[in-house]
Amino acid sequence: MKIHEYQGKEIFRKYKIAVPNGVVTTSADEAASIYTKLGKSVAVVKAQIHAGGRGKGGGVKLAKSPDEAKTHAKAILGMMLKTPQTGPEGQKVNSVLIEEGSDILKEYYVGITLDRRISKPVMMVSTEGGMDIEEVAHKSPEKILKETIEPSIGLQRFQASRLAYGLGFEGDMAKQAITILSNLWNCYDGEDCSLIEINPMISTKDGKVMALDAKVNFDDNAQYRHPEQVNLRDEAEEDPLEVEASKYNLNYVRLDGAVGCMVNGAGLAMATMDIIKYAGSSPANFLDVGGGANVTTVTNGFKIILSDPNVKAIFVNIFGGIVRCDRIANGIIEAAKNVNITVPLVVRLAGTNAEEAKEILMKSGIKLEVADGLKDGAEKIVKAIGK
Ligand code: GDP
Ligand code: MN
Repeated sequence: MKIHEYQGKEIFRKYKIAVPNGVVTTSADEAASIYTKLGKSVAVVKAQIHAGGRGKGGGVKLAKSPDEAKTHAKAILGMMLKTPQTGPEGQKVNSVLIEEGSDILKEYYVGITLDRRISKPVMMVSTEGGMDIEEVAHKSPEKILKETIEPSIGLQRFQASRLAYGLGFEGDMAKQAITILSNLWNCYDGEDCSLIEINPMISTKDGKVMALDAKVNFDDNAQYRHPEQVNLRDEAEEDPLEVEASKYNLNYVRLDGAVGCMVNGAGLAMATMDIIKYAGSSPANFLDVGGGANVTTVTNGFKIILSDPNVKAIFVNIFGGIVRCDRIANGIIEAAKNVNITVPLVVRLAGTNAEEAKEILMKSGIKLEVADGLKDGAEKIVKAIGK
């Protein structure tokens, strides 16, 4: 789960990671009074959306008076902010963070994420802060310093030191940087994050080191340990269909192809997407209806898939292991009564009672094609779309 920068910074404060003072608001008038309360000559007005790259898109502006803070807030609030990380239509800005301005000396990159190759978290830092870190990794990988973290003992002091000195910090500023890096690990670990990035972490002309930006992603699978994280969710930032699907406990990810997929099990869902591509089309979604596919999940699955106007056909690919295929076939028939299926439907059922299920489907009178195997199913679905 993603959260906003201002929420990430609240969490940073809890873990004693230095951040500038600031207040979030949805009102341009309030932006002016916040500027005054911050009491600094320069304030920064920052669009709060879940995507990065806001600076380049015009979502980060400096203000030198209450009026200017209000003008910038007015321009940013409600705008469709386009950045390299949003869709082409942009993301609507509903709130702005008004923050005291910092006199930047240098910008650094700091991040922690899971290195899946070695199954351990890794902390990465770079002197190339404020830039696209993927590009740095591609063009000058030697500019990224890494420390692998042993999760049972956490980031060690010598590792934080090595990274801080590696970035060129000295004296008191090295001490501040070490504190930030150490506390950042505590935050990643304590909040069960999947990713934390500070881009940029800055040094200032008056000798301070702090986090100027905050990207904090939580691991959804650990959310049961952090009930308070649920309050940080902003559904306005998420794909409406994905929000709807999460209410039904469906694992749904929207994609941009034409074939709606209803599958049980993540592995089979991945294989289904692959074979659709192989057959010459592309999936409109990833949808894992879970192990206990029944009338309700199948009905909800159809509803979600059909709400996507890009869907030109639906491929149901279910393996009846614990759930018998005949029950799934009846589930599809029931679901078809509840939902008006307006596009071609191809069904492939394999496993227990598959033959019986096939017969049930053929006799049902529902307009659908039954497929024999994965390849046949993919070919039939691509043919149904007509390309
Ligand atoms: P992002 O573009 O979405 O990653 O937003 P950031 O929070 O990283 O801000 C983008 C850039 O704005 C930073 O890299 C800084 O160069 C600049 N910026 C942000 N806050 C300040 C500030 O207080 N003072 C100055 N001078 N620049 C700032
Ligand atoms: Mn940033």
